[in-house]
Amino acid sequence: MLVVMQHKATQDEIDVVCEAIAKMGYTPLPMPGEQRTAIGLIGNDGRVDDSQIVGLAGVAQVIHVSKPYKQVSREWRSGNTLVTIAPGVTVGGNEIVVIAGPCSVENEEQIVTAARAVRAAGATALRGGAFKPRSSPYSFQGLGRKGLELLAVARRETGLPIVTEAMDEAGAEQVAEIADCIQIGARNMQNYSLLKSVGRLNKPVLLKRGMAATITELLLCAEYLLAEGNNQVILCERGVRSFDPAARNMFDLNAIPIVHRLSHLPVIGDPSHGTGSRDQVTPMARAAVAAGADGLLVEVHPAPDRALSDGAQSLHPEQFIRLMQEVRAISQAIGRSVSPSPGTAALQIG
Ligand code: PEP
Ligand code: MN
Repeated sequence: MLVVMQHKATQDEIDVVCEAIAKMGYTPLPMPGEQRTAIGLIGNDGRVDDSQIVGLAGVAQVIHVSKPYKQVSREWRSGNTLVTIAPGVTVGGNEIVVIAGPCSVENEEQIVTAARAVRAAGATALRGGAFKPRSSPYSFQGLGRKGLELLAVARRETGLPIVTEAMDEAGAEQVAEIADCIQIGARNMQNYSLLKSVGRLNKPVLLKRGMAATITELLLCAEYLLAEGNNQVILCERGVRSFDPAARNMFDLNAIPIVHRLSHLPVIGDPSHGTGSRDQVTPMARAAVAAGADGLLVEVHPAPDRALSDGAQSLHPEQFIRLMQEVRAISQAIGRSVSPSPGTAALQIG
């Protein structure tokens, strides 16, 4: 339940509503807004009897949040949430944020070369996995801590903030020490203990949709993060399993406008995992931006044929340059723009 206060409601009136909610056995969560304060009610399981609340002074409206998730829903917060992953790099506003880089961090030369290439093409942030969730235990598992240190080197060289995956609680603490944004991968979307511990780390989180997860399940998993007090959450559509083996996954473009309707959290598209094949990445990147994605996650490798993971879907740097050009054109056509690489804004304006 959400209690929307009148524009002119006083602090005393807000306090009385909070006390009434507490007396009913629930936890009030006041959310001051520019126009008015809304007070959320936490701790209920099912519809709450609002008769104690509706008549109180200063109450404009009581909204029953019918969705199983609350804090991620638009009913809870109507304006878009902005997620700032580094100074000047904000997801969820008018600017489209492009996070690019290899699937895995392989060695210093590879990650620094990749970082320079994506930055030169205009990427806003660098991705690269140090802890890799691989389908086979015999596949490359990532460099772990060493990979995080190499990401820090690449950040120092290029100024690009880092997005990288955490697979477990111990790894999440290590990732939080170095990275700017913690990725929770598709396979771990419903790892509730990981979600709870990452929610407490006070770092922006990129939460990827599970490969067979509904949009409701994705939003419920995001709710775990918000319930821990972290609303700096970016959702990511990365394709779902389908009946058709023609593509690795089916990139669910519908998810983008649906998530925007249901939630105030930003949503980005990952056409690399969404398709699994290099030739489909740029078309689906264009489509995701056209569909309203707040950003893209794109795998780019200096030499995809030698990549230790996901080479088949990784773009060559020249292909990424072209992708950026096309994405810029589409952004403009829909009244948006691509967020520049950090440190280049002044350069572009001047
Ligand atoms: C990745 O981003 O490299 C990755 C493993 O993605 P997903 O969790 O979507 O499969
Ligand atoms: Mn990958």
